Amino acid sequence: KEPICDCNSCYGGPDCSLFLPACPANADGGDPYFLEPFWMQHATNSALVVAGWHRMGYSYSDHSPNISPELESHIRTLHSVVGNAITAGRYIVFGAGSTQLLNAAVNALSSDNSSTPARVVALFPYYPVYKMQTELFQSKNYTFEGDASLWENSTSNATMNFIEFVTSPNNPDGQLRKAVLHGHPNAKAIYDHAYYWPHFSPIPTPADEDVMTFTISKLTGHAGARFGWAIIKDEAVYERMTTYMALNTIGVSRDSQLRALKLIKVVLEDRAREIFEFGYEIMRDRWEKLSKTLSTSKRFSLQKLAPQYCSFSQKVRAPSPAYAWLKCEREEDRDCYSALEAAGITGREGGKFGAELDRYVRLSLIRSQDDFDLLLHRLSKMPKSQGKEE
Ligand code: PMP
Repeated sequence: KEPICDCNSCYGGPDCSLFLPACPANADGGDPYFLEPFWMQHATNSALVVAGWHRMGYSYSDHSPNISPELESHIRTLHSVVGNAITAGRYIVFGAGSTQLLNAAVNALSSDNSSTPARVVALFPYYPVYKMQTELFQSKNYTFEGDASLWENSTSNATMNFIEFVTSPNNPDGQLRKAVLHGHPNAKAIYDHAYYWPHFSPIPTPADEDVMTFTISKLTGHAGARFGWAIIKDEAVYERMTTYMALNTIGVSRDSQLRALKLIKVVLEDRAREIFEFGYEIMRDRWEKLSKTLSTSKRFSLQKLAPQYCSFSQKVRAPSPAYAWLKCEREEDRDCYSALEAAGITGREGGKFGAELDRYVRLSLIRSQDDFDLLLHRLSKMPKSQGKEE
């Protein structure tokens, strides 16, 4: 009999309640469904109703296109409550997710009249969109040049211009990072702080970089709302990013801004205690369970993360990364992605995060509890060393 509902690939039967054993464990993608239960608990106060006549126009405000001053001020309050970024005396630009702001920042930091294009770099392993996006636009002003560490100690680089992407905590391995080219006279950095929230990371100090990006996708989990922001020190960079936004999309959807404001207001209701305790507990628990499952394994290893002091929680906290950066240690698992795929686990190929990283796979830990439980189950069934199961 045909099912009455549209089952996903893991469930079948007339009411989609039968678990299908062939279902792959989905550990791909960055959808933060781990926060869905939090928003179910807050269904009423996070709901948004918008009347048809509301905010119809492009709504250029006095200083920049389409920026809600109320949302901007809530973002500043949020950063000061969490203590993860300095916003006093800084400019803020909104984007359709931080994805749009990444290229707006590269464009703003490069020069229109330099004889050679700025070299855009990022330390391996890095978030693949930096390369894909930089190459997509094929600009005269900048080119993607790969691993930042290759330029670190080079003497020939003194006259070159660099734009370094620094992801902190890093996607895929959760490490807090600083710019490799820090101190170079012509290097500028874009600090991508998508994961610098207490769910995923200790917050040792407020970030205070020249250009920083944040996103609601990993803060509240609303990746589909497409809302992010950049915090910028320099007025000229701010102006160039604002021009980019005006020409690219005439600013960010008013509806996204309204939704972001509503969600951030709920987050701030108890000075952000509830959401971060909720999120941190889940992420810490998942990391602990995964580490335990693989602790005796000779076949797989995980990135090393140490407990660290978090000023938001006011204590030393155990790690709670968004992703596992899993390494296949056996020679026959050179293609780590395929080894996992054969065991019914879909991760993200390590090779996408830099050259010669096929021994690695990124596993998302921020998906739903069902996804995580299935991942753990499948990993625990894989032989952990050469030959038989331990
Ligand atoms: N930066 C990093 C490091 C990310 O992992 C992501 C999302 N996966 C983004 C930026 C983009 O996020 P968004 O466009 O949803 O804000």
